[in-house]
Formats: sequence, C-alpha cells, structure tokens
Amino acid sequence: MNIVIVGGGASGMTAAITAAEKGAKVTIIEHNDRLGKKILSTGNGRCNFTNLRMESDCFRGASPEFVETVLAQFTHEDAISFFENLGVLAKEKSGCVYPYSEQASAVLDVLRFKIEQLGVRVRCEEAVEDIFCKDQFVIKTNRGKYEADRLILACGGKAAPTTGSDGSGYVLAKAFGHRLKPTVPALVQLCGDDGIFHSVAGVRCDAKVTLFVDEKEVASDRGELQLTEYGVSGIPVFQISRYAAMALYEKKQPVVSLNFLPDFSDKQLFYYLLQRAVNQSWKTMEQFLIGMFPKKLAHGLLRKAGLSVMTKAEACSASAWKGLAELIMDYRVPITGTKGFEHAQVTAGGVDTEEIHGKTLESKLMKHLYFAGELLDVDGICGGYNLQWAWASGHVAGIHAAED
Ligand SMILES: Cc1cc2nc3c(=O)[nH]c(=O)nc-3n(C[C@H](O)[C@H](O)[C@H](O)COP(=O)(O)OP(=O)(O)OC[C@H]3O[C@@H](n4cnc5c(N)ncnc54)[C@H](O)[C@@H]3O)c2cc1C
Repeated sequence: MNIVIVGGGASGMTAAITAAEKGAKVTIIEHNDRLGKKILSTGNGRCNFTNLRMESDCFRGASPEFVETVLAQFTHEDAISFFENLGVLAKEKSGCVYPYSEQASAVLDVLRFKIEQLGVRVRCEEAVEDIFCKDQFVIKTNRGKYEADRLILACGGKAAPTTGSDGSGYVLAKAFGHRLKPTVPALVQLCGDDGIFHSVAGVRCDAKVTLFVDEKEVASDRGELQLTEYGVSGIPVFQISRYAAMALYEKKQPVVSLNFLPDFSDKQLFYYLLQRAVNQSWKTMEQFLIGMFPKKLAHGLLRKAGLSVMTKAEACSASAWKGLAELIMDYRVPITGTKGFEHAQVTAGGVDTEEIHGKTLESKLMKHLYFAGELLDVDGICGGYNLQWAWASGHVAGIHAAED
C-alpha cells in the first residue's frame, strides 16, 4: 500500500507512524522546512498532549457523535501509552498531561525518530500545486510528482499560520468536492471596549466569564481572566471564544459578562458590602475595595459605577451598594471582534464531518481519501484536547488507509 500524507504536523505524523507500522509505504509531503513546527509552541513550550478528563463536552463541531466515534478508537490512555512506547514519560497536572521533561521538543523528537526508524519518506519544502485522482491519486508539487493508492489530508486549519497551517488544506479538500463549515479563530482573545479597559489593562484575576449571544447564555468558564487594552484574554475567555467568533460570523451580538467575585451569590455580595460598610465606614471607596480586588480594577469598577474613589463608604446609599454589587458580578462587555488567526490556537469549523465516515475517516465522496486533524470541523477546549484529536484522528486515518 502506497500512502501519501499531505501535512507533517501532529495528525500527519501520527498517521504516518500508524500506517507504516501496518506495513504501508508512506510519504509525508510538508511545505515547511521541517516536520511538526506547531508542536514546539504547544502548552507554552511544554506540550499539553492529552487530558485525563475526556468528555464529549470538551469538543465542539457540528457532530459530537463523529468525534466520539473517532476518540473511542484512540483514547487518552492510548495516547499516553503511544508516547510512552515512543519514549516520552508522561506527567499529569490537574488532569493535563505533559512530557515529564516539560519540553514540547521531546514530543516532536520521538515522533521524528520513529518516522525515521520506520523508513517513512519525508519531503519537506514541497508545496502541493495540483492534486487529483485518476486510477490513483496524483499529487503534483513544486518539486515533483507522486502517485498514491491512498491519500491522507492532514494540513491543519488556519490557526498560527506561521507554523505552516495556512488554510491550503481547505482548497485541497474542496478540489475533491468536500463542503466546508465556516472557519473562525478559536481559543483566542476577544476584543471589546467599554471605556475603562485602557485603565485596567494588565489586571489578572480569578473570574467567571459567561457569553451571551443575542441575550441568550451560550457558554461560561472560570479561571484567570486577563484584562487588556483591546478587551479580554486568559483561559476562561479562550474556552468560550469559538462561540463568540461564530456569533460574530453570523452577524449576531456576543456580550461577555464578567463576574469578579464568582464565589458569592448576588444577595450575599450585596449584604456583604453593606456589612463591610458598617465596619469600615470611615474608609474612602478606594481604600474600601483594597483586599477585594487589584487596585487598578477597583478604580475601574468605581468609575464604571459612577462612584468617586474619594467618597466615604458611609456616604454610599443602599442603591449605590446594590449597583456596585451588580457590576462586580455581572460586568457586561459587548464583543466587537476576536484577535485574528495569527493569535488563535485552533480553528473552529472546517471540512464538514457529515461527508466523512467517523469509523474510518475516509471520505464519503472519494474512495481512499482520508482526513485527519484540525482540518476537520472539530475543535477542542484548552487542556490537551486538540492534540488528542490530532493523535486520535491521525491514528484512525492511518490504520484504515493502510488496511482497508
Ligand atoms: C500556540 C499554540 C499552542 C497550542 N497548545 C496546545 C496544547 O498545549 N495542547 C493541545 O492539545 N493543543 C494545543 N494547540 C493546538 C494544536 O497544536 C493543534 O490543534 C494541532 O497541532 C493540530 O494538528 P494538525 O496535524 O491537524 O495540524 P498542524 O499541527 O497545524 O499541522 C499541519 C501541517 O500541515 C502542513 N501543511 C499545511 N498545508 C500544507 C500543504 N498544502 N502542503 C504541505 N504541507 C501542508 C503545515 O505546514 C503543518 O506542518 C496549540 C496551538 C497553538 C497555535
């Protein structure tokens, strides 16, 4: 069996190893000067390569059943033993799994070593210029021509294009008649300003972030929020960002609600502020909020609430406390955009999974054509899920391309 894989990223390399272990003759065509460039930047250079909590709500895309069918064939335990067999000892932190050395380069190295040992042909700096199927697949590049019995497209999406995933995989998929779901940046920062963000930029704090689209709650997450000049960032923002991006694409209005004291209920906070005002009546409002929020954020909240930093706590009315409590727990920011694909960790949307067999990842439109990785309409939340998808889908495509 002669298999060509276009794209030598996480999913393409896994597909190559799996197919070569099954005895196939495998060639990877990669337009970068080396394989797996993106892996090096994952997990802040530490590569969070899977997660011990693997539930269907960790993945997004049009078909959760499709994702489940693929992941059932290569679980997070399989990913851990796959890498242990390649030489990477795993370690876990709050469910996230990393190589013991905490070096993403270790993950890339062991994949490259195995690819070399298995005799997979690697063709770097080759850009696919034309691709079609006669009796066999014909892949024309800027350097030559390849023929293959099976073709795996593993080109990634559009996120972080400097690592090679420039969206050209979508063009190749379309050449075989495949439909695309709209693609938007995900795991990305959200832009929006309500006049105080320039003064609170740099603040990091624990918060619950809830996304509303056309006033309906869509998603929420809690963690370290970062306030920036352009809007909001941090893991909880990343986790909800794909829904905001999709809403903007659909010309809907996303709004995030920031809850700066998520451990309190509305009522609790109001009464807590009243009680605190009795005990600390002599303080100015600036002094009053010290110990609850970072100073910059306290200033921003007071400005937004229309309260002077110099007002004495004892001078605040019950309605002023109520307004402040509401603002602290439900600070609304209309979202005007997202940062672009160059800042995104992943692409939401992609090749429509309705046209792919979940069991094999073979195209329903073209026999012997397979898909793997982020190119498909599947994206995961932060925490090792996108790489788990890449390994699992690469494995499934590799096995079936080699065997079926
Ligand atoms: C900064 C950052 C941090 C991340 N951290 C994590 C993390 O810690 N954990 C996690 O699970 N996920 C993480 N991700 C997401 C994860 O890295 C990706 O989802 C995953 O690498 C996708 O794998 P892939 O093989 O589908 O695509 P890619 O890794 O993008 O690989 C696609 C490959 O195909 C090549 N290619 C594309 N088009 C062509 C073409 N026409 N011809 C030839 N070659 C082509 C590209 O050059 C590239 O090498 C992170 C992403 C980024 C950007």
